[in-house]
Amino acid sequence: MTPFLDLRAQYRAIGPDLERAVISTMRAGTFVLGEPVERFEADFARYCGTSFAVAVNSGTSAIHLALLAAGIGPGDEVITVSATFVATTAAIVNAGATPVFVDIDPVTWTMRPDLIAAKVTSRTKAIMPVHLHGRLADMAAITALAQRFGLVVIEDAAQAHGAERAGVRAGAFGDIGCFSFYPGKNLGACGEGGAITTNRADIAAAVRSLRDWGQEGKYNHVRQGFNFRMDAIQGAILGVKLPRLDEWNGARRRIANGYGRALSSRVSVPSGPIGMDHACHVYAIRVPDRDAIRAGLDEAGIATGIHYPCPVHLQPAYRWLGYGAGDLPQSEALARETLSLPLYPELPSDDVDAVITALTTLTAERLARTA
Ligand SMILES: *Cc1c(COP(=O)(O)O)cnc(C)c1O
Repeated sequence: MTPFLDLRAQYRAIGPDLERAVISTMRAGTFVLGEPVERFEADFARYCGTSFAVAVNSGTSAIHLALLAAGIGPGDEVITVSATFVATTAAIVNAGATPVFVDIDPVTWTMRPDLIAAKVTSRTKAIMPVHLHGRLADMAAITALAQRFGLVVIEDAAQAHGAERAGVRAGAFGDIGCFSFYPGKNLGACGEGGAITTNRADIAAAVRSLRDWGQEGKYNHVRQGFNFRMDAIQGAILGVKLPRLDEWNGARRRIANGYGRALSSRVSVPSGPIGMDHACHVYAIRVPDRDAIRAGLDEAGIATGIHYPCPVHLQPAYRWLGYGAGDLPQSEALARETLSLPLYPELPSDDVDAVITALTTLTAERLARTA
């Protein structure tokens, strides 16, 4: 069986380093925040090219606190996308704000900037693009629009650690970047984790306070806060992994481009060649007969994923937002056709070949049937 993702492969490669970092953190008796988290925050800010990084307990918390730190809450609208993991919308709603969806570009699958202006109202406070699958959204156009309308830009960079365009990395384009360190992300903890990045000292200070009961100084609670702190052990683990991120992303891109070269004549693949502006968190093809192709791959021993089978605006939990089928045609088409192939830095080349062979056979059979 070719797994979709094998986290044990990474552990085999760097396990001893991780274990040393965990044991020394345990022996130091530091369990929440503390020196390992502070060191990781400094390293991650330097990596992203921002003045500050503030670590929290998940990517969802990072988005939630980014919004609160920017002063966004009930009555405010945030322009975002529906073609994303549910957490983007959940965090906006958790902050008390209202998500307003725009459709995605059919080629990049990220937010269409030309649809934003029509959605801006007197209540709009922010634009939250998602770097879906690790591909950077059109940040030049989005930040220009934000400037024109006086809006904050908050990047959902939970899938895009290390993606860069013209020397600027994910998390450094907008006012605030939000990252997840869920184990399967390009930079993953051994448990939950997240962070915000920013150049604004006021935002960094507010998130530091909000994640820790709204404190400014011990037992001085100046804000309605949360327990969204990062564990010391996760900070230590992320500190060990961060120096390897570029190498891992490079391996992801090489595999993705291999898929693209082999498959582009048979199925719709991400527009390529894939470069530095794509962190290749997910490599998804588009096929009209997605469920049949998926079943065929499963029969051939190849596990796949679907990111994501239903756009957020059609999820039962968000029916109250008032959207219906047909409102976001490109987002809905992506959900119907998208199929994610196995992709992780250590994916053996034999497995890559097996995926390509199986897809080649399946699409040839489809052609023969329709001929
Ligand atoms: C993973 C993810 C999140 C949420 O991160 P968690 O750490 O799981 O809370 C948010 N947005 C996107 C696009 C994600 O992929």
